[in-house]
Amino acid sequence: MLSLSSFTINRDRMIQEQLQARGIEDARVLEAMQQIPRHIFVEDALQEQAYGDFPLPIGCGQTISQPYIVALMTEALELEGHEKVLEIGTGSGYQAVVLSQLCARVYTVERFEQLMNRARRLFDRLRCHNISSRLDDGTMGWPAEAPFDRIIVTAAGPQVPEPLLEQLADPGRLIIPVGDRFNQMLQVVELVQGQLHVHDITPVRFVDLVGAHGWPAD
Ligand code: SAH
Repeated sequence: MLSLSSFTINRDRMIQEQLQARGIEDARVLEAMQQIPRHIFVEDALQEQAYGDFPLPIGCGQTISQPYIVALMTEALELEGHEKVLEIGTGSGYQAVVLSQLCARVYTVERFEQLMNRARRLFDRLRCHNISSRLDDGTMGWPAEAPFDRIIVTAAGPQVPEPLLEQLADPGRLIIPVGDRFNQMLQVVELVQGQLHVHDITPVRFVDLVGAHGWPAD
């Protein structure tokens, strides 16, 4: 087991070598990822790899995204602090905790109960009281809490789920990987005065978004 200070050193290197060196500039995003102990979001045997430049398994066939992808998606949301953010795909809970430091309130949805239970324990442990979570099919969004200023989908689907577009505030921004099961494009969908504008960010590979408006379950 590495000591706490080794984790801190690894985290400093992650910020410099993986994020700043590749162009992540949002000081609030860098500060949040500097503070959050990413290693507690993975099982003990993987903790020493938690600051590496790759995704890691978190159980149920799912992964915690590579640090750079978390930073890139978070930066693309352009958070100022007052926003209500919906995340689809809680997974380990790491992305939700990053968001919780940068906006007013996070609503996060996960389809696996085992992952949700573990993530909820971490939200409590880190005292992230501005995160609400729900076990459900996130492709349906969270209608009771809509509209959302920002929506981030951390699993890849064949298209942007229609309910998410309906639950996006105007103005609003949604970020999602879209494509087939092996190659996807990270897209930003902006809603401004009733008009949708879509921009491609970069090719990516995510786990499947499984649900009524995603891929069918195997
Ligand atoms: N944001 C996570 C990444 C998890 S990987 C993190 O920081 O660790 C993507 C997650 O999306 C998986 O946990 C998967 O179970 C979940 N997922 C896939 N389809 C979903 C759906 N329709 N609704 C909710 N969660 C879904």
